Amino acid sequence: MSLLDRIGKRSASSDDDGPGDAGSTETSSAAGSAASAAGSARRSLPPIIQLDSVSRIYDTGRIQVPALQNVNLRVEDGEFMAIIGPSGSGKSTMMNILGCLDRPTSGRYILDGQPVDELDNDGLAYVRGHSIGFVFQSYNLLPRTTALENVAAPLLYQGVPRKERLARAQAALERLGLGERLNHEPSELSGGQQQRVGIARALVTDPALILADEPTGNLDSHSGTEVLKLFRDLHALGRTIVLITHDPEVAESADRVVHIRDGELTEGAAA
Ligand code: ADP
Ligand code: MG
Repeated sequence: MSLLDRIGKRSASSDDDGPGDAGSTETSSAAGSAASAAGSARRSLPPIIQLDSVSRIYDTGRIQVPALQNVNLRVEDGEFMAIIGPSGSGKSTMMNILGCLDRPTSGRYILDGQPVDELDNDGLAYVRGHSIGFVFQSYNLLPRTTALENVAAPLLYQGVPRKERLARAQAALERLGLGERLNHEPSELSGGQQQRVGIARALVTDPALILADEPTGNLDSHSGTEVLKLFRDLHALGRTIVLITHDPEVAESADRVVHIRDGELTEGAAA
């Protein structure tokens, strides 16, 4: 099944649950039907992430730095997984590969059934825009731009008409409890609110994968807990989430933890 078919499928199944329900934080019946939809999807669809012996070696000209070494990983549709490791262990390198911002030196990455090595740079950009929702430690919101326009921005690159962009952005913000903050700029929002805008922006395209890099790293513990609870809710709705962190407490939110050290992965073992 092609990537496009898969994207179509995901959107269609979320339409069944109600208008634009993807990413809803409601935990009522919608959660149940989305979870069972994810359950049946798991049986018939390829993994969201498949890394086959992926290595990434940085060539500085002087030395070669093996930042990832023969990494194998499968993440199934609907999983909530954390990748944890200390500074310098290869987390950012992993994030860049998983997010199609960088390519492996060797090995193969298959994202949502699509071998990434078969894509040219436009293809990679397309996959980033349609299949991956990014959540960053420092939120990466556009300054002097309203929450509504920030969340609508990724839809611009999909050619969605302006009226629909704004309607979908508003719906995403309302689901994250920011319906009263649509016209606030980042500087007028707390850190926790800015990160919720960031999560709304990640969800608005209905991506196959949500990739979060230290999403609570800049937040106080209360806001951090709220953001992690949001990820739990999204997981309950059938979303696939990969959370990258150095913090064992943050990793505990996930159902599955993979450790990274010196560019090598170990499943579930102690840090
Ligand atoms: P983390 O995000 O876990 O701190 P990184 O993925 O940033 O780890 O780095 C993994 C290893 O690769 C480190 O040894 C780092 O110094 C090295 N590295 C990262 N980026 C580059 C680069 N552009 N050139 C050379 N070495 C790099
Ligand atoms: Mg890093």
